Parts: sequence; C-alpha cells; structure tokens
Amino acid sequence: MSNEVQPVGTARLLQLARDKYVATYGCEPVVAASAPGRVNLIGEHIDYCEGFVLPVTIPFETLIVGSYNETDKCNILSVLADEDAQTSFPSSSAESLKPGPPTWSNYVKGSIANFPDPVKGFDAVIVSDVPIGSGLSSSAALEVAVFTFLEALTGKSVDAIEKAQLCQKAEHDFPGVPCGIMDQYIVTMGKKNHALLIDCQSLEATQIPLELGEYVVLVTNSNVKHELTGSEYPQRRAQCQQAAEKLGLSSLRGAKREDLEELKRLNCDKLVIMRAKHVIEEIYRTTEVAKSLRRNDLERVGKLFFQSHESLSKLMEVSCSELDELVDIIRGAPGVLGARMTGGGFGGCVVTLVKRDEVDNLKSIVLKEYSGNPTFFICQTNDGARTHIL
Ligand code: ADP
Ligand code: MG
Repeated sequence: MSNEVQPVGTARLLQLARDKYVATYGCEPVVAASAPGRVNLIGEHIDYCEGFVLPVTIPFETLIVGSYNETDKCNILSVLADEDAQTSFPSSSAESLKPGPPTWSNYVKGSIANFPDPVKGFDAVIVSDVPIGSGLSSSAALEVAVFTFLEALTGKSVDAIEKAQLCQKAEHDFPGVPCGIMDQYIVTMGKKNHALLIDCQSLEATQIPLELGEYVVLVTNSNVKHELTGSEYPQRRAQCQQAAEKLGLSSLRGAKREDLEELKRLNCDKLVIMRAKHVIEEIYRTTEVAKSLRRNDLERVGKLFFQSHESLSKLMEVSCSELDELVDIIRGAPGVLGARMTGGGFGGCVVTLVKRDEVDNLKSIVLKEYSGNPTFFICQTNDGARTHIL
C-alpha cells in the first residue's frame, strides 16, 4: 500500500555504503557499524521529572563504513536524499575537536571527542533510512553508529551504559541539544522483540519482552511539525520543577496523587497543577504498561495509551489538532486497542496497538478521513547498535 515507508534493510544499506566508499576513496572500507532509530511507547514529558520511558527500536538504521587513512584528518560523507553532505576535520589525536559548521558534522565530532581513546584520521561513508528530524531519533542513531564504528576501528570496546552516556554528552556539548538519556540508551541497548524500561532517576534499564501475538505497533507519522516559539519545552520543565519545589521534592518522581490536593491548597497556579497531574499519572501509566506487557494484557496497554494521549493533549497541552485528529480517527477503527502521540509533541508520530489483520483497513480509514498526508510503518523491533562483517 502507498504511504507505507519500508526499511531499506541492513544488507542493502551496507552495499550502498560500500559502493559509495569505493567510488569516493578508491579502496574498500574495513569496518562497519550501525544503530537504529527509536520510538517511545509511553512515558512522555516525564523524563525530565525523573520518571520512566519505554522506547523500542524501529526497523530503520544509520550505518557507517570506513577505515584509517594514515593522515590526521577525518573525512566523512553522508549520503542524503537530496544531496550528499561532506565534512573534513582534524582527528582527535591531531588537535582538540570543537563544534562548528556544518551543523550535522557536530553529531559526528561529538562522538569522536567523547570516545575514551584518541582517534586517528579516517575516511567514512554514512547511509541511513531513519527519517531525519521526524522525532525518530536520527540524531542518536548517528552518534551511536559513529561511536560503535570507532570501537570497531580502534579495538577499544566501551560498556553499553557508559557508551550511551558519552553519546548523550556528545549531543549536549557539540550540536548543543540538552536531550535526556532515552535516545542513546535504547539505540545502544535495544533488543529485538523487547521494549526498554528506563528509570530516568536511577538510570537503570530493564528489558521488557514485547510479545504482541496477533497485534503490532503501527507508527503513523502526521508529517507535521509546528515550529512554535521554542519556549514550550523549557516552560513545561519549569512548571514541573515548580510543582516539585512547592511539595518540597527535588523532582515529581516522588509525588503522589494526593499531592495534587496539596498543590491546590497551596494556591498553586492552575497550569502547574495540570502539568503535575500529567506527570504523576504518566509515571504510573508507564510502569503499568511495562507490567501489562509482561502479563500479556494488551487490552490494558491500549487503554493506557489512550489515557496518555488524552493527558498529553488536555493537561500537558503538547499535542496539536493533527495528532488529536489522528488519534480520534484511529480510536474508532476495528482491531485498535489504543493509540497515542509519541515524542515531544506539536507534531510527529502516533503509535497504535492494532491487530495485524486490520492494519491495511486502518491505513485506508486514516488516509480517507485524516486531513493531512500521513505515512506509516510497522514497528518491527531490532537489536541496537552493532558492528558488521564486511
Ligand atoms: P531527530 O533526532 O528526531 O531525527 P534531531 O533534530 O534531533 O531530529 O536530529 C536531526 C539532525 O541530526 C539533522 O538535522 C542532522 O544535523 C543530523 N543527522 C541525523 N542523521 C543524519 C545523517 N544520516 N547524515 C547527516 N546528518 C544527520
Ligand atoms: Mg534527536
């Protein structure tokens, strides 16, 4: 069916990267590594409150091939849909790496600069089928793919948790994005047929078996991204922090439902109470989804998805008309157990738990009724970052 985005597949991506490498540098690459994108099943706008997130990997990945070039420069080419992007900069053993243009090179430089050993000059080609800037974490896929490539190139392997944290630091320091830990954790530690429950307070990660039987997770990309003022995210963070402080807590992780009454009694701002209600209930929902997945209670998972969406829309106010429209249409379709917006909001994707047999029907209903131009993919989970034999 049209509007379905199919993964290119690892073998084909490897071939594309290798051909481009030979054409560009005139020799064969020696090492190859890849890392997938991700989507969050539930646990939205609570990572910064030390809550939980429950992401899965998606069947799209970023792959890098390359070899040492016996110089003190790194030359990297990224094959993109419109035009290839090229960048060259000093290796980390030549001089210290600094952020600078082009913007995309900072995701690569960040991983090199945060790699525990100095890295000598290398040539590389990057290929990817992760949609860029769609909230599916092409950025973490790129950072972690590069880091994994460096492990293969240098022979130095880094513990998964440390690696994810170094890649997060790379995104903070180089492109300058103050992201949480979710993306790098799942992209590094993701496991086929599992979701990863991440405790954003202890940073502990637990693999949750994802046995969906006759159901699948369908991702519907609204293909809209509203450029708002940019203050929405810091504002939500600040409001949650304010609620925690009123309660004498360092974060809302420790807050209980009864604390909402206390916030009212303290004459707390109405919006702050709404945000706190979302956070307290979403933390509960996320742990409940993990438990329900373990018990194979998919109906409960679906109900919690719908509740999460409602809360993100009405209490956190981070949805938009397109996402609300999509969830409303999906709610009425046969075989659907639940649906919710995923990611930061104001556009991006919806995740739906739906019977595999009903997927085509659901897609045609959405295509008929939704006012926008959506694309779909079935979320087949895959292992996280890995190396490949060339
Ligand atoms: P998301 O992570 O949701 O896709 P971000 O804005 O966090 O969106 O990251 C997207 C940015 O990451 C791009 O603008 C680009 O700078 C960089 N990037 C991601 N993948 C690639 C790639 N394959 N080649 C070059 N740059 C990439
Ligand atoms: Mg990103």
